Amino acid sequence: MAAGDRVVVVGAGVAGLTTAVVLAEAGASVHVIAEQVPGVTSLAAGAMWGPYLVEPKDKVEQWGQRSLDIFRRLAEDPDTGVRLTSGIEASRTAETAPDWATTLPGFRPCEPAELPDGFTSGYRFTVPLIDMPSYLDYLLSRFRNAGGLVEHRRLTSLSDAAPASVIVNCAGLGARDLVPDPDLRPIRGQHVVVTNPGLTEFFSEDTGLSPDLLCFYPHGDTVVLGGTAIDGEGGLAPDGTAAASILARCAEVEPRLTQTRVLEHRIGARPTRAKVRVEEETREDGTVVVHNYGHGGAGVTLSWGCAEEARSLLSVK
Ligand SMILES: Cc1cc2nc3c(=O)[nH]c(=O)nc-3n(C[C@H](O)[C@H](O)[C@H](O)COP(=O)(O)OP(=O)(O)OC[C@H]3O[C@@H](n4cnc5c(N)ncnc54)[C@H](O)[C@@H]3O)c2cc1C
Repeated sequence: MAAGDRVVVVGAGVAGLTTAVVLAEAGASVHVIAEQVPGVTSLAAGAMWGPYLVEPKDKVEQWGQRSLDIFRRLAEDPDTGVRLTSGIEASRTAETAPDWATTLPGFRPCEPAELPDGFTSGYRFTVPLIDMPSYLDYLLSRFRNAGGLVEHRRLTSLSDAAPASVIVNCAGLGARDLVPDPDLRPIRGQHVVVTNPGLTEFFSEDTGLSPDLLCFYPHGDTVVLGGTAIDGEGGLAPDGTAAASILARCAEVEPRLTQTRVLEHRIGARPTRAKVRVEEETREDGTVVVHNYGHGGAGVTLSWGCAEEARSLLSVK
C-alpha cells in the first residue's frame, strides 16, 4: 500500500478499533464505518485476557501472547481501563491448569483453604482485566488522535464501503451477511454489572463447554458477573431468569455479592466459527478485502495480534 491510500475498516468493536489504531499509527489514512460505535458484543465482554471458544490453537497462542504484551504496557496507564489483577480459576473436579495460564505472573496451584466450598482444584495468577466501556473509549480517542475518521452507517454489502484502496472487514457477527459467511454463528452471552462491595480479585470457574458460566471481574466501583454461553442464539434481550441465576451462582462463591445493587445487564453474541479468519481476499469486483473476524469468546484477548497481522497483510509497516 502507498502512504495516504484510503483504508476503510468496517466495524467499531474491539477488532475494528484496534485494527484502525494499528493502521492509522502506521501512517495509513483510515476511515471506520460502523452501525454501532462501539460494537455491543465488545461492550458486553468481561473482559479477561485468556482464550475461550476460539481456534486455531497455534495462531491463537501467537496472537494472544502479542496482545498480552501490549495489555501489560497499557495497564501502566489507568485511563486505558486495563488493570493487572490477581485471582483464581477453579474447578469442581481435579483439572490440570490450562497451558495459557501457567506462564502468567504469580501462577501457582491454590491451597485447598483458598478454594470456595465444592471446588477441588484451582490456580492463582495475575492477568489483564479490561473494563470494556473505558477501554473502547480509549481506543476511539487514540484512533481519532492518529487522524482517523468514524462514520455511523449500516452497510448492506462490503462494496458499499467504497471508495477505498482496501477494505478491512471487522464486522464481527455482521460478516455472516456481509461476506457472506454461513460458518459464522452466535454464542449468546449475558453479564450482570453490579456495585462493587469491596472485591479486588477476580474469580472464574472452569465450566468447560457448559452454557452456565461463573465468573466475576472487579473494575473499580463495579463488578461484572457472568455468565452464559448459549450456542446458536443471537438475541440481545436481557433474560431475567439467567440474570438471577448468575447473581445466585456468584454470591454462593463470594457472599459479599449479596450486598450489591444491579446497575446494568450486558448481552452480546460471540462471533464464532471453526477458525478465526484473518486473511486477504480479492473480491469478484477487484476490491481487496482483509478479513479480521470470527474471534468467538476471545476477541479482546486476540485483538492486538490479529490487528498486527491484518496490517502486515496490507504491507503497511
Ligand atoms: C458475555 C461475553 C463475554 C466475553 N468475555 C470475553 C473475555 O473475557 N475476553 C475476551 O477476550 N473476549 C470475550 N468475549 C468475546 C469478545 O467480546 C468478542 O470476541 C469480540 O467483542 C468481538 O469483537 P468484534 O469487534 O469482532 O465484534 P463486535 O464488537 O460485535 O463489533 C462488530 C462491529 O461491526 C459493525 N457491523 C456489523 N455489521 C455491520 C454492517 N452491516 N454495517 C456496518 N457496521 C456493521 C457493528 O456495528 C460493530 O461496530 C466475550 C463476549 C461476550 C458476549
